[in-house]
This record gives sequence, structure tokens and C-alpha cells, in this order.
Amino acid sequence: MSLLALGEFHRFSAAESDFLYLVPSAAVFQLDEPSRAVLDLLGAGPLPVAAILEQLPYPADALRETIAELIGARALRYANAQPESVPRELPPSGFPLSTLVLNVSNQCNLSCAYCYEYGEDKIVDTAFGAQPKFMSQATADAAVDFLLGQCGPQKLVHLTFFGGETLLNFRVVKTTIAYARQRAEQAGKRIDFSLTTNATLLSEEIIEYLAENEVGVTISIDGPREMQDQFRVYHNGVGSYDVIAPKIRSLLQRHRSRPIGARVTLTSQTLDAGRIFRHLREEIGFWEVGFAPVTTSPNRLYAIGESGFDRMLAQFRELADEFLECSAAGRHHGFSNVRDTLEEIHKGVSKAYPCGAGLGLMGVSTDGDVALCHRFAGSDSHKIGSVGNGIDRQVQVRWLEQHHIAEKTDCSRCWARPLCSGGCYHEAHVRYGDTAHPNLHYCEWIRGWTDTCLRIYGALWVRNPKFLEQLDQEPEYETSAAS
Ligand code: SF4
Ligand code: SF4
Repeated sequence: MSLLALGEFHRFSAAESDFLYLVPSAAVFQLDEPSRAVLDLLGAGPLPVAAILEQLPYPADALRETIAELIGARALRYANAQPESVPRELPPSGFPLSTLVLNVSNQCNLSCAYCYEYGEDKIVDTAFGAQPKFMSQATADAAVDFLLGQCGPQKLVHLTFFGGETLLNFRVVKTTIAYARQRAEQAGKRIDFSLTTNATLLSEEIIEYLAENEVGVTISIDGPREMQDQFRVYHNGVGSYDVIAPKIRSLLQRHRSRPIGARVTLTSQTLDAGRIFRHLREEIGFWEVGFAPVTTSPNRLYAIGESGFDRMLAQFRELADEFLECSAAGRHHGFSNVRDTLEEIHKGVSKAYPCGAGLGLMGVSTDGDVALCHRFAGSDSHKIGSVGNGIDRQVQVRWLEQHHIAEKTDCSRCWARPLCSGGCYHEAHVRYGDTAHPNLHYCEWIRGWTDTCLRIYGALWVRNPKFLEQLDQEPEYETSAAS
């Protein structure tokens, strides 16, 4: 006699409804009363269908339908069937490149204590020190040709400028944008530009250029003065807040063609996400604010330990609840961490790899070497080609084989793996010296945060389904710069 057992899912409640996050399909499934009762019953152990029909107080035909639906959704499985293994499908060879990040400078005019470029976690490589400080125009132009040559049939590609401090090489940024526009038009493609900056070098002229040319801007900033000036200091130790705050206000007032985002690095000493969010969103006027915990070895003073991750999760949950209330009422909130995860949940993203690094996204060092992403740019051991000679497909395929989620046995039974997939390779490199190692030091945090986002998703499903429908599109943007 075939016994039915529970499949692989994460169960959660929101807005007085019960849901499943189905791991094999990465889909969200809303439970009705009979399906809830079936799952509750099987929670005690596998049973034959006849026993389920006998024990539950619903008409047999309706229950059979419910059971069939739960089997179809893979929320139930036959107990004697082999548990599903994580499918091991590699992306098709010649996978198109869609985003290229150019490290136009490896110099910075700030000296942030935690910066991976300057801290102890910098990727140590013999070639790194020998790199040119700034990307030349010839290398940047070759990078544009490389992107357009490797993007396959895609009509829209993204070029992002990064550093060090990007604006130290603004001349090359400008000339490259003009060249890329011309080359994209010849190739029948559209190209989109963005850059990340610490904002210290923003001038009226640069702001005007960025606005006119619709360049997306992300500002690396850590919050109000006392938090910004803890780590984001000049080489002489002087804080940068008073320099950047008026420049950012000016940028937000003038540049209204693209949403301007703040990107915050959280440390154990600057771990007040609520206060940081309010300052950046409400007092400064950023359209959105995103947070990332500092990447560092655990013995640094500013590293976030276990209790720090708990605190961070509690603060993120408060912001996520605010996000829910705003979104349910059709208002913009601006906490980008939750929006990004909701978008992945809505699209049913099930990742074989944690991010696009080495696939649709690559980073270019100042000398034109192509690496997995911008954080590995300049490291010989993470090089997968060069803008002049193209991608070394053998290296890329070997790397994709080694980093596939199916190779991460620690993750094989984790319900959060469709969204996490082991986490950032750079973080793994810093923590474990191995890009293929899952980031097991933050599993509790990842599962806690994913559960929170699922609850927000479920609540919006019930309270404002229209919000979820528009997650496939770009967020509606209205200028909100504080004067
Ligand atoms: S790293 Fe941890 S949270 Fe992420 S998929 Fe693996 S086991 Fe799950
Ligand atoms: S490896 Fe890490 S830093 Fe690089 S793109 Fe992926 S998530 Fe981002």
C-alpha cells in the first residue's frame, strides 16, 4: 500500500492565511482548510490515502482533489519514492553576458577601515599590486566591445562603473559612455549606465552630466554623521559626512531621471538599521536604501557576530513591517532589501548559483582582465578571461561545475536554497578561503530573513495583490529629494 508523506516545503502564515513555500518549484501556495488539515495529519507521519479520507471530516471527492493538488504541487510525495535530489543542470554554453562592471580605478580618496580593497580581506594576489591605478581609455573601450560581443541576442545590456572611487577617473567614464552609446546603436542594442561612488567628488558639473545622461547612481554611505564618520574617513582620519551630505542633496535635487539609491555597510559598531534608514530616506531623501553586513574575517572588531545578526534581523523585520503597511496602502517605502527578495519570490527564482557572477555578470580590472565580478577584479586566481581575448570557456565551465548548488551538500536539505544557493562567493572566499564553500556562518540569518520576506509576500497576496503583479516591472519612481 502506498503511503503519502510530506514533500519539501517551508510553511508560513500571514494575514490569517497559511502558505507553503515549495522548495522544488520555488512557488508559493496558499492553503485552504482541507489542504491544511491533510498536511497537519501527515505531520505526524506517512499514511495511506484511505486513512486520510477516513480521518478527516470532508467529503471524500473533495479530499481526493485536494490530495491530488498537493501531490501536483509536490507538497506531498509517495513515501517509498526516492527523495528528489537537487537537479544538476549547467547553464547553456556561451550564456550571454548582460552586465559588465568596470573597475575604472583601484584608488580611493577615502580610507574606510573595512574596505575590501584596503583591508586585510583584500584578495591577495601577486598580480594585484602590479595593476594600473586607473583604467585607460583603450581598455574601457575594449570592455565595451567585449560586452557587446558577448551579450548574445539580448537587446538591453548594462555597463556599471565601480572603483576604488569611480569619480577619480571620471574623464574615462564620460568618454566610455559616449563610445558605448555609439557602438550599441551600431549593434542594434540598448545600453544602460550606472555607477557607484562615495559622493566626495560630486561637483555641479558631474551632477549635471549624470542627470543629463540618465546615469543610475548608487551612493556608498553608512548613515548619519556619527555612523558615517566611524569608518568612512579620509586618509588623515577626518570623517566624510560633512563633505558628502550637501553634495548628495544637490544630486537628489538635480538628478530626477533615475532613482538614486544608498548602499549601507552594516558593522557591529554601526548596527542601527532603523535609524540609518530614516536618516537616509526621510532626512536626506534617497529613493531607496539597501543594507549589507560587512564582509570580513570574524576576529575583526567591527565584524557582526551571532548576536549582531539577531539584532540586525529584528531591525530588518521592523523595517519590513513598515514596508508591508506602505505597500498594502499603495505607497512607496524604499527598503530595497525586502523589495529585491519579494521580486525573486514572485518570479519563482530557483538559483543554481547565488548571483550572476561568472555568468551574466562579470567584473573588469583596470588592466582589462575579466573576473567573476567586480569584487574579484584584479585577482589572477579568479580570472576568467580578458577584454581583448574574450572568455576562457574551459575555465568558466569548470568553475560553473564546481560552484553549482548540487555540489553544496550542506545546502541540499535547506528550504532556503532556491533563494540563497550558498551565498556570495566573495564572502565565502574571505571567510573560508574557498569560493565554493557555502556561507554556513549566516544560515540562521538567511532563513530568518527569507521567512520574513515570505510573510510579507503572503500578507500582500491577501491585502494588495496588485502590488505583487507590478513586481515584474521597474518600481514606479517619483522624485522625493528633501530640499
Ligand atoms: S548557505 Fe545556509 S541558508 Fe544558504 S542554502 Fe546553504 S544551508 Fe541554506
Ligand atoms: S560574488 Fe558576491 S559580490 Fe560578487 S556579484 Fe555575487 S554576490 Fe555580488
